[in-house]
Amino acid sequence: MKFQNPKGIFSVIFVYAIILSEYYVFVFHYLPYRYSNNSGSTIFIGIEFTLIYIIIHWAYIQAQIQSPGHPSPDLAKNYQEHILEEIKNRTKKHTEIIQKKRKQKLMKKYELAIDEEDEIFDIIQTMQLDSYCFKCKNIKQPRTHHCKECNKCILRMDHHCRWVNNCIGMKNHRFFCQFIIYALLCMSQCVIFITIELFSGTQLKGNSKFLCQMCALTCLLLCLSMGTLLSFHLYHIAKNVTTVEFHIEEMKTDNPFRKLKIIDNFRELFGQLYINWILPLTENESKTKITNDSFEL
Ligand SMILES: [Zn+2]
Ligand SMILES: [Zn+2]
Repeated sequence: MKFQNPKGIFSVIFVYAIILSEYYVFVFHYLPYRYSNNSGSTIFIGIEFTLIYIIIHWAYIQAQIQSPGHPSPDLAKNYQEHILEEIKNRTKKHTEIIQKKRKQKLMKKYELAIDEEDEIFDIIQTMQLDSYCFKCKNIKQPRTHHCKECNKCILRMDHHCRWVNNCIGMKNHRFFCQFIIYALLCMSQCVIFITIELFSGTQLKGNSKFLCQMCALTCLLLCLSMGTLLSFHLYHIAKNVTTVEFHIEEMKTDNPFRKLKIIDNFRELFGQLYINWILPLTENESKTKITNDSFEL
């Protein structure tokens, strides 16, 4: 649990500046004027808006600090051992072929020493497996991709998000979606309330009026862009496709990870407990077993 990349901190500060200014204008410039004659409504909307605002920050921080998920070194080690065991059990003929290939390689590059990495490479090539990351020097589980920004392999990698300053993967995709959903709730409320106020004989004046107009306009533009982004993500989660896999042609026609029920595809990321669907709670893995059929080797 840590902030992944110190260089991306400026994007995060920018996002905080947008969220904070939106809250400041709505609560300290809009609400006092709109409900000046009705303090009960002002308090209710102020509390409701503040609660959503807290959840936005909560989800945003979770998306930043929670690990997106990396291949387990133990699992990878076991897998390597499994491959080595397979090789040992091969017939003598197969072993001779591999040795012959190595000799040819040595003749071409006679100064090249075959180290452990080459050995693993040969084994994997022979077994026709495309599941080794040469940067991490580790076995990749299915749906794992190496992120250039993080320089790590990410489980069920969706994308690297500069606005979150973290990779979005298996374990934090849920927080990313929750952040967008609650931010949309907050911003659409700003747009609707302030627009109604501005077009219905407003009492807002001077600086407050200008700030409210800017807030509504900014929120409207963000609602359009984030709404499109959220639709894209929810549609692909329902189909059990990541943003990386979306560009793979075969996944459009023959997706081996897709489950029959849409809800099961959502459970893979959002977990079994519905409270975790609503709130960005950190999962207790012993209580909330995430369906991880897609990651079994
Ligand atoms: Zn890697
Ligand atoms: Zn990344």
